[in-house]
Amino acid sequence: MTRLRSWLASANAPDVEFPIQNLPYGVFDDGRGARLGVAIGDRVLDLARVDHGLAPGLLAEPSWNAAMEAGPSVWESLRTRLTELLSNEDHELVVAPHLVSLDSVELKLPFKVSEYTDFYASRHHAFNVGSMFRGLENALPPNWLSIPIGYNGRASSVVVSGAQVVRPWGQIKSPDDALPRFAPSARFDFELELGAVVGQSSSGMVSVAEADAMIFGYVLLNDWSARDIQAWEYQPLGPFQSKATATTISPWIVPKAALEPFRRPTPVRERPLLPYLREPFPTLYDISLEVALAPADRDETVISRTNYAEMYYSAAQQLAHHTTSGCPMRAGDLLGSGTISGPAPDSRGSLLELSESGSAPLTLGTGEARSFLEDGDRVTLRGCAEGDGYRVGFGACSGVLAPAGPLPDWASD
Ligand code: MN
Repeated sequence: MTRLRSWLASANAPDVEFPIQNLPYGVFDDGRGARLGVAIGDRVLDLARVDHGLAPGLLAEPSWNAAMEAGPSVWESLRTRLTELLSNEDHELVVAPHLVSLDSVELKLPFKVSEYTDFYASRHHAFNVGSMFRGLENALPPNWLSIPIGYNGRASSVVVSGAQVVRPWGQIKSPDDALPRFAPSARFDFELELGAVVGQSSSGMVSVAEADAMIFGYVLLNDWSARDIQAWEYQPLGPFQSKATATTISPWIVPKAALEPFRRPTPVRERPLLPYLREPFPTLYDISLEVALAPADRDETVISRTNYAEMYYSAAQQLAHHTTSGCPMRAGDLLGSGTISGPAPDSRGSLLELSESGSAPLTLGTGEARSFLEDGDRVTLRGCAEGDGYRVGFGACSGVLAPAGPLPDWASD
């Protein structure tokens, strides 16, 4: 079978992130105001100026929330229409004037994040971190193989790729019984994750199949984490200020429909799951992921490579579990997968793991050593699913760490 091609030449290059098979949803500003767009090749299609076939109100605001709320049949008809407009040469004359160069636009948060929940769902990550925080015997909590562990995070601190992240101050444990210190985090870290964007609301429990149908698409997600603050605060209620500084997401929502060819089953269970968590069909995806770290004004080094198919729980399972309490979900809910770590040492999704809690610093290609992030470091996440003759990419999820601000007078001794 020959693969579908676009009349836009740049969309057919073998290594392009945004071929006709992808068509991810974003919000862009070319200096004339923020608008909805779809990435294709090296361009963005301006949805304010083409006949997309939907009710005008659904795409009027510069966020995808209204279109998400309209539901899966609308998602499907929009995708069908966009595929037709960008593949059939009969439309080229009318559509081509509304393609804007990606180089010339600023990308915004693609949707209003209504809520944010983050999980802890990679077997390797949970074991690695648990053994550092609690010792080898207690590495995996007894509930972990039965329940998708998560915490309710902050929607207010979710930012788009490119936004600056400022090193946080926080309360940090001192040796022995001395008073804790209030200081800039010295163990600031990234977490490589995939974010599921919930496109439909719910009330009451939903099944894993229903949860899967509620997901609109996926983004890359960096859950910035202050490990020294986390280690002191996390018991007994889990992370709080250590995870509240910022969460960076990639600017394009890759439609779930674009990822259908890449579905993979969750792994063989070490303990049977309760019936409500069993997947009726494969709910993970084969998505290659990597993390690159670049010191200020220096070249980047890829420091980790892994795959989303390594997860123990999928977003659909996490979402189904999230509703067991009766917790209502909303369009615009963001679910962080949890840090994605593979079995190999160079497939770990955080510096905490890569540097073995700082005891084995990484050496970058520039010759510099890293245990945790230094001021000026740029962290970039990338992801793609490899199809037959094409790839579905996510666009970069990038952020630079700025130095901590000054301490206010009233917080000093
Ligand atoms: Mn996380």
